[in-house]
Amino acid sequence: MWKSVKIVGPVLLLLLVAVVVIRFTGIWDSINRNDSKANKITDSASTAIQANNMNGTSTNGNTANQENSSNKTSYNQENSAISKRLEQNLKSKESTETPKQQALSIIAVGDILLGRGVEYHINRVQGDFTYPFRQVVDVLRQGDIVFANLEGPLTESTNSLDPNGKIVLKSPEKAAEGIKYAGINVLNLANNHIMDYYEQGLLDTINILDKHGIAYTGAGKNIEEARKPAIIEKNGLKIAVISYTDMAEYTFKGNPMLSFAADENKSGVAPRKYELIKEDIDAIREEVDILIVSLHWGVENSFNVTEEQIEFAHQLIDDGVDIILGHHPHRFQGVEIYNGKPIVYSLGNFIFDQNDPNNQESFIVSMKFKEKKLSFMQLIPVRTIDKNHVIIPKGDEAIEMLKRELELCGKLGSKCAIVNDTI
Ligand SMILES: [Zn+2]
Repeated sequence: MWKSVKIVGPVLLLLLVAVVVIRFTGIWDSINRNDSKANKITDSASTAIQANNMNGTSTNGNTANQENSSNKTSYNQENSAISKRLEQNLKSKESTETPKQQALSIIAVGDILLGRGVEYHINRVQGDFTYPFRQVVDVLRQGDIVFANLEGPLTESTNSLDPNGKIVLKSPEKAAEGIKYAGINVLNLANNHIMDYYEQGLLDTINILDKHGIAYTGAGKNIEEARKPAIIEKNGLKIAVISYTDMAEYTFKGNPMLSFAADENKSGVAPRKYELIKEDIDAIREEVDILIVSLHWGVENSFNVTEEQIEFAHQLIDDGVDIILGHHPHRFQGVEIYNGKPIVYSLGNFIFDQNDPNNQESFIVSMKFKEKKLSFMQLIPVRTIDKNHVIIPKGDEAIEMLKRELELCGKLGSKCAIVNDTI
């Protein structure tokens, strides 16, 4: 268990009060109303306040020109509706915001591949795609948010970027049943394998996930879709996940060769570009309670985090991100708490078919948030057995990986300890 998470009390409280006051007086919305992306997702109070601004209090010339008598009538109706809604909003906040409902459990695991070697070994046990998760399902389902990286599309397509099928990944449609069973409710699609079966593979994935009610982010029919946050509402809180990947513009396979990056008219992934991410953070930050950024990055088959990653992660936290969830190296790297916000540099493989024992071990990251702040964090060791299921090792079976992780976290300045076979 993590010993201490710093709480910056009075200053943040003051800021929070200021923000709440600004929101409810409408100043925030008049400042923010030109930001079209942020306006996409607005609660009833802020929508109402925008209507209020239409009566000339806004500095925006276009809306002032629209004023006419019918506007005035609708304004008056709208105005009383606003008061009612604000009153209800405040009342419901008072009565429903109990500490229990404000607590939120977020669980994250790493790369999921249920095709290739894993599929072969699942077929040895009646082809049941819930089998990989049976020994961890009770832990995973405790999460209100359960995140994973889907490394490759869910598709039955055979038209891949590599005709020999060696460096391309996919999982069968049936894999979605296992993912759903595990309680995973949001998937990262921004990675260097999601387009391995061209656009068809991605579109199949999106259809299958929609059918199973599993949220996803990081890839889509165009760049706007790829950058669109996955939004999940739980316990009265709104959580957003946005995802980006390295290697998006790097073309090395396919006939024709394919760049994975999406653009205005092309499907694909959202690339890890700071300016892009900053724009997306600014657009959504005030609309959600917890903002998660998922990054497919880092050095493959390595336990080490680069200086560039540390700087990048710190910058995103400074920009307002609450949690950073990294993946791609296939190994679970160190975890850092920076200004009270968790950075998981690489979640490692959760279930994959790689042979290296270091790539068959990782941790389930379990985080609890109270009052939108990290109050608890635990790393639960997991290991893939027989390439077809995940177990939670105990005692001697877990000690080596626990010690290694303690050291990796220590290198990043994190204070943590081994307690009951977990960190
Ligand atoms: Zn990768």
